[in-house]
Amino acid sequence: MKIRETIKNFKPYEWEVSLLEMAKKLGLDPTKILRFDMNTMALTPNKFIQELEKILPTIRINEYPETSYLELRNALSKYTGRDVDEITVTAGCDEALDIVAKVFIDPGTKVLVSSPTYAMYRVVVEAMGGKIVNVLRRENFDDDVDGILKSIDDKTGLIFLCSPNNPTAILTSRETIVKLLNETECPIVVDESYMEFCGQTFVDLVGNYENLIILRTFSKAFSLAGARVGYVIANKNTINLLNIMRPPNSLSVISLALAKIALENVNQVMENVKKTIEEREKLIEELKKIDGLHVYPSNTNFVLVRFENGNIKEVHQKLLENGIITRNVSDQPLLENCLRITVRTQEENRLLVDTLKKILG
Ligand code: PMP
Repeated sequence: MKIRETIKNFKPYEWEVSLLEMAKKLGLDPTKILRFDMNTMALTPNKFIQELEKILPTIRINEYPETSYLELRNALSKYTGRDVDEITVTAGCDEALDIVAKVFIDPGTKVLVSSPTYAMYRVVVEAMGGKIVNVLRRENFDDDVDGILKSIDDKTGLIFLCSPNNPTAILTSRETIVKLLNETECPIVVDESYMEFCGQTFVDLVGNYENLIILRTFSKAFSLAGARVGYVIANKNTINLLNIMRPPNSLSVISLALAKIALENVNQVMENVKKTIEEREKLIEELKKIDGLHVYPSNTNFVLVRFENGNIKEVHQKLLENGIITRNVSDQPLLENCLRITVRTQEENRLLVDTLKKILG
């Protein structure tokens, strides 16, 4: 069977481990395994489900969704303070990444990525035949703004920033964004998937800069990762470009209804964010008490931890054997011996800390 040249030797996204496979391999009960690796919310949106149940009989599941997703865009316009024409809705932020890549990348286009960061940027770029140029962050994980500017040439077609960044949990400064926007016309994507945990956003700049593309999701603060809803905020002309490549029906009518309900209950969402931040700070304090651990500050719902004298593979594996899945990010530059740990409930975080103490002796 003939396949595209690009797909031969393609390095796919490294999937999160399957819970069921992991349980089988380790001989554990799958319901007892705790996922600290997904950056999702431990708090489930029961209220949203109750509201959905009420309107479920009125949802026309036999029909395709309304393709402009106008109702949800109207609600998003209210939430973000941007015009409805400056918003497009996608099946999660990952589909937005795919659409961006299809619009801006030809074979050979150079794409700058402030690294280390979310691995899907590389995947969508290389799938289009683009070439990734990793611009290494500084030691303190700040974006190297001068390095980015110096790397731009006439082949550069896109720049990826992530604020707060996964997995370093730090913010891109406003100064950095404004400097880049003022000095290049190259499209700049800012992935704000974790924005609700820090409150900092650059959406106010989309009116002034046609090349600024902001990505958001319902998978994190809104507790709706399973519903697969994301959106893009950009200048109207840029949104029109993205809509050229947007599939007409990639969201389910159920997901659209859930996202709308979530926006009607944004106070509940912010309450969950507040609780998660409180738990995060408690978790950071407890982790800091463990010898040999360096815990980085976080603006997200996860924490980056460096094991200064442990064998990271062994720690990761031993946690697994205890039914605790964390994300080993230590193969990325600057992140030697680092694990990424999602904040869960107080009880679950305590179990993680106690297990870590036990493992590290
Ligand atoms: N961007 C970042 C930075 C992420 O961490 C993730 C998910 N881990 C995504 C995008 C994908 O989000 P979604 O579930 O909306 O596809």
